[in-house]
Amino acid sequence: MDNNFRVRFAPSPTGALHIGGIRTALYNYLLAKKLGGAFILRIEDTDQGRYVAGAEDYIVEALEWCGLELDESPKIGGTYGPYRQSERKAIYQKYVDQLLASGKAYYAFDSAESLTEKRAAYEAEKKTFKYDASIRSEMDNSLSLSETEVQSRLERGTPFTVRLRVPIDENIIIQDQVRGSVSFSSKELDDKILMKADGMPTYHLANVVDDHLMKISHVIRGEEWLSSTAHHILLYRAFGWEDTMPQFAHLPLILKPNGKGKLSKRDGAKFGFPVFPLSWETEKAEDSFEGFREYGFLPEALINFLAFLGWNPGTEQEIFSMQELVEAFTVENIGKSGARFDIDKGKWFNQQYLVHSDDKDLAASIRPYAAEKGYKVTDDYLTQVCGMMKARVSIIPEIVDKGYYFFEPVKTYEAKPVRKNWKPELRPAFDDLLLLLTNLEDFSAANLDQKVKQFIQDRGLRMGNVLQIFRLSISGTLKGPSVFDMAALLGKEEVLKRFERAYLAFEEMMS
Ligand code: GLU
Repeated sequence: MDNNFRVRFAPSPTGALHIGGIRTALYNYLLAKKLGGAFILRIEDTDQGRYVAGAEDYIVEALEWCGLELDESPKIGGTYGPYRQSERKAIYQKYVDQLLASGKAYYAFDSAESLTEKRAAYEAEKKTFKYDASIRSEMDNSLSLSETEVQSRLERGTPFTVRLRVPIDENIIIQDQVRGSVSFSSKELDDKILMKADGMPTYHLANVVDDHLMKISHVIRGEEWLSSTAHHILLYRAFGWEDTMPQFAHLPLILKPNGKGKLSKRDGAKFGFPVFPLSWETEKAEDSFEGFREYGFLPEALINFLAFLGWNPGTEQEIFSMQELVEAFTVENIGKSGARFDIDKGKWFNQQYLVHSDDKDLAASIRPYAAEKGYKVTDDYLTQVCGMMKARVSIIPEIVDKGYYFFEPVKTYEAKPVRKNWKPELRPAFDDLLLLLTNLEDFSAANLDQKVKQFIQDRGLRMGNVLQIFRLSISGTLKGPSVFDMAALLGKEEVLKRFERAYLAFEEMMS
């Protein structure tokens, strides 16, 4: 492994990981593998208030299911651990002390209440309150108070936060690999809190310290973090680490299907498709979400679909295995504008992968769903159903939903084709067909194919006409696998039963 290239995915365990997060993880993974480097999982759990139990396990399981194999993580470990920020408190303390000593950061004693009051007073005058260079000297901090007062407050245990002392007039230029050069003036930036009153670092401090200590070479993350990057660069400067700072790439947003705004976790329920990789169950229904796995996607298809949400290979090729994605991936081909989430495109990808997937594997994954519906069939039977149906569905459960007639009697017969093909004068011929099937010993698809077609020819009947009635009798629909394959799998006894029932139903439909 090339140790010069170290790429991390750094989610906060605040709940289930949205597919936007999986896309970020994917792009990080692809770049790491392309460069022959390491793909690292760092859990950013310093915000105790937003911590959600089970979220870290969910993230790990989702990455595993997607095939995004990690090289270093809280579970795997590695040279640069611990990989959970809550376990690195002492490390951050050391770096905060360094910034305080060099005057790049300061103690702020302002209480939450006093800040809320200030904010309200500003709002009343239609101004926005920003804790920055223009007002820091009016606030309750180590820049405005005497040294002795600061010392005495610290000794008394007065609660404090530590803030970054943003330089007064500095230009900050981010060389973003997706957006090009983006510049900020330090005048726009507030004095961000680096360490909270509970002694925990904020995202900004922990993120920068860890990216530095973990020798991260590339930071690929969502566009919403672009503005934070200006503060991060100031922090790199304050520590004297600017020369070895990672390269940044900020990913475009994933947009709602109608292109209006960012795809949110609630959009799944709204538009009727999942926006999470795996299902997430909580006591509250509104906070429980269905996952792509449970919805019936293959992980390879989800990955292929997500790869194209914000990136393209610059060629016509659309189907990419993970290995092919690794080879084709370049940060330069990541787009700048938002990518519209189109579930139909996702289903199209899934269909492409379903056609080539192993019948037995599909049967295993569909087994619980079939059981839920009360369908009791052998593995071999289910495997054969999967083999016949997989090219005809776009999500896995449809194998059982659309192909329900493999497991239970036909529920409805498509009226139009029945009317078109069921002619009273043909009844004797259909009765003879039934007789032929009754007497058939070899009920294999090949033999059925040969004998039935022979019968149609001998009787001078129309091929389409009889075969459609055959198909409608056993499945109720004109859509579906080869009629003889279906009949062979259902077996003679079942097929005969279905014919008899269907004839009665057809006659009734015609009367
Ligand atoms: N913890 C941040 C998140 O939840 C990480 C952002 C970054 O990659 O720097 O997305």
